[in-house]
Amino acid sequence: MSDVAATAIDVSRLPRSPGSVLEVSTRLPAPADLSVAMARVVPGSMIDVDVTLESVVEGIWMSGTADVEVSAECSRCLDPIEWSETVELEQLFVYPATDASGAIVASAGADEADGGDVDEPEPEVHEDTIDIEGPLRDAVVLSLPLAPLCSPDCGGICAQCGERLESIDAPHDHPSTDPRWAALEALLEDAEQGVSEDERER
Ligand SMILES: [Zn+2]
Ligand SMILES: [Zn+2]
Repeated sequence: MSDVAATAIDVSRLPRSPGSVLEVSTRLPAPADLSVAMARVVPGSMIDVDVTLESVVEGIWMSGTADVEVSAECSRCLDPIEWSETVELEQLFVYPATDASGAIVASAGADEADGGDVDEPEPEVHEDTIDIEGPLRDAVVLSLPLAPLCSPDCGGICAQCGERLESIDAPHDHPSTDPRWAALEALLEDAEQGVSEDERER
């Protein structure tokens, strides 16, 4: 009945006395769907995690970094791009609540089925492991660019001819730069290919 997540870190070597510190360097497989709009952590890639775990009264404070491999599309020219990104990890993992006999009791808020607006509960230390997937997800969403660029001066693609532009500020010239001519040419091409005129129906 092992339900240890692939993104779990073993914390059994960290003494529970507050102030104890454990440095952990490990490699974990990237969880699925770690992404923002046009950028994502490469599925199945390995993530280098370097964190300091510190025992505090209520649990374990984790801080450190994760190096992720990102794949994305340039938001101007749509070329595929890849790079490495270091994201900051910071998270408190709380010890599960116990009753007088020391048995673990279900924590308030652990049941997310109601989906209310309550604050998300802190993740818990689970059988001497902490699962960093949640903090990793938060960090990646905060770090990855919403509009990635293949280079800062990518000119994107000409809306008229589809050619790559030298600069975003300098559209190039065409034999006929008047957009009305371009529209007319498109219509003529359609007519030549026998496309019906239904598109223009009112
Ligand atoms: Zn580009
Ligand atoms: Zn063009």
